[in-house]
Amino acid sequence: MGFITSYTLQELREKFEGLGLEAYRANQVMNWIYKRLESNFQNMTDLPKKYREILSEKFKVHTLEQVEKVIASDSIKYIFRTWDGHLIETVLIFERDHLTLCLSSQIGCAVGCKFCATAIDGLVRNLSPSEMLDQYLLVQKDVDQRIRNVVFMGMGEPLANFENLKKALYIMISPWGLDLSKRRVSISTSGLIAQIKKMAQDPLLREVNLAVSLNAPNQYIRESLMPISKTNPLEDLIKTLVEFPYPTDRRIMLEYVLIKDVNDREKDAHFLAKLIAPYRRKFKINLIPYNPDPSLPFERPPLERVYAFQNILRSYNLSVFVRISKGIEVFGACGQLRSKRLAIMLK
Ligand code: SF4
Repeated sequence: MGFITSYTLQELREKFEGLGLEAYRANQVMNWIYKRLESNFQNMTDLPKKYREILSEKFKVHTLEQVEKVIASDSIKYIFRTWDGHLIETVLIFERDHLTLCLSSQIGCAVGCKFCATAIDGLVRNLSPSEMLDQYLLVQKDVDQRIRNVVFMGMGEPLANFENLKKALYIMISPWGLDLSKRRVSISTSGLIAQIKKMAQDPLLREVNLAVSLNAPNQYIRESLMPISKTNPLEDLIKTLVEFPYPTDRRIMLEYVLIKDVNDREKDAHFLAKLIAPYRRKFKINLIPYNPDPSLPFERPPLERVYAFQNILRSYNLSVFVRISKGIEVFGACGQLRSKRLAIMLK
């Protein structure tokens, strides 16, 4: 049995023809799945009964199963189980006037950021396109308001799962799929230079929003927090981003997680400002106070320190925002809740 969300419209049309069904039936099925959020083929009432039976035998819509839902005042965290028994997490964030869905792209992560709970297990495997799409479908079914904003900022490094990410994005932005606007889809990367260059060459991927985890004002601190910097040096990363073919009205988001006494000092702010100031039209900076994790030796800075850091950056005419992490009541750094659940399961 296959997962129907692993097909593009064209692929599904061909698949249907191979099964002896008319190709246009694939359009009808896509409409049921992505527009009407129907997962039971028997309820697809504009298909002949015989077809519904064939589809029920051959395909499933959902590949994930919800195992936990944690509701906070500003977010909902979902834990899903994959078909092979792994746990992944998805967070729905309530913004002032819209919803944003934070999706996972891998089970675990090989990048190994020192401040991140997801890194503890290393990489288990990539998520398939249908597993990425299913996070959206299951959460959208659970809430009344339409989810228009999607960020790949959950577990995993999305650009390390390039081809699957690309296919999931294609289905997300296609009119026959989720029909999301490219401008409302964001990819957050730890800064894999080769993959960012590949993204720059790709007509689809270079049009979605790009966010890069910088987290340090210099190579030394960045390497201590993000070992990936050894092979993806800060200077080369900035050069790659400056050359990224973005429309002039859009800016790349630099994410900076502020960790107490590690990267939040005044001198760090000045170093960061001097690094970015020559390219201020190309970037905006998001400061994110760290969400502590009991298994990791890092602390959240006091808010006055966060705003002092912001003021220094602003004194260099940089565009800087403070993002107090949503969902702090239910999770800290990415992967934290999953780690807790795994700990409970292992007891
Ligand atoms: S912060 Fe992101 S890239 Fe870094 S280890 Fe965690 S999941 Fe991977």
